[in-house]
Amino acid sequence: MKKYLINICFIISMFTFAQNLKIIPLGVYGGSNESNLSSYLLAEENTTDYIALDAGTIYSGINKAIENGSFTNTTIENILKNNIKGYFISHGHLDHLSGMLINSPEDSSKPIYAIKETIEVLKNKYFTNTAWINFANEGESPILNKYQYIYAEIGKVFSIYNTNFTGTVFELSHVNPLKSSAILVENNKHAVLYFGDTGADRVEKSDKLAKIWKEIAPKIKSGKLKTIMIEVSFPNSQSEKILYGHLTPYLLNEEMGKLAKLVGKNNMKKLSIIVTHIKPKDDNEQIIKNELLNTNPYSINYIFPKQGDLIILK
Ligand SMILES: [Zn+2]
Ligand SMILES: [Zn+2]
Repeated sequence: MKKYLINICFIISMFTFAQNLKIIPLGVYGGSNESNLSSYLLAEENTTDYIALDAGTIYSGINKAIENGSFTNTTIENILKNNIKGYFISHGHLDHLSGMLINSPEDSSKPIYAIKETIEVLKNKYFTNTAWINFANEGESPILNKYQYIYAEIGKVFSIYNTNFTGTVFELSHVNPLKSSAILVENNKHAVLYFGDTGADRVEKSDKLAKIWKEIAPKIKSGKLKTIMIEVSFPNSQSEKILYGHLTPYLLNEEMGKLAKLVGKNNMKKLSIIVTHIKPKDDNEQIIKNELLNTNPYSINYIFPKQGDLIILK
């Protein structure tokens, strides 16, 4: 009987602590279409407690996700107010935060997680009472105090409130002097690494990606981290001189080569990369997909997210 009870407890704890993760993309592009800009809801599979990874598009994305059956028996208002528990904003560009600004009057009180430089942009450029009402908790008066800024320190683990997640942020090189960032979101069993806009180390004359690869390599080797969400904004035809802090398929492969050296080719095959922030000009979307799939030296599983379509991470 005792053994039976221990087994039951073990099974229950497995269900409690070993949940798969799910992602609902609210917006997937890096420009052009304002109804479909970078934002991804991430939660444990059987919960509705989401952290929004960037917030370029919110309302149109939730609407689409309801239409597509990714949310059932709920409303846009309920998801916005009750299910989105907080925002991680990777950097200060509008395509990563305009949905949050526009929906702020209807939103509920919640934290905004970001590096100091991004909070400065929100505080001094957007929530100013001139560009937009100050719904946050610092800056120009009147201060409405609906959103609480949480200053994420580079490399330090912090709690993501009202979820079972922790976050760790890393610095990225994008367009100087603006700082961009990535976040590693983890529960007990699984992890997802989400990148804001980033250039490649060689082009940026930086070592910021190299530092991240070194930091996360043990989690890839242990099998905890199997999903990376990273931008590929332009096709290979875009000259490196006019990338403005973005990646191409060629440059992503270059970076993956560095990661492969740290974790080994076998572990690379277990990786899924969710390709974000494609700039959908002309045929670029199809060209980028072809370039990634046709030259895939590490046999990475590429996922091309669609607005509103649920992704379950195994
Ligand atoms: Zn962007
Ligand atoms: Zn940007």
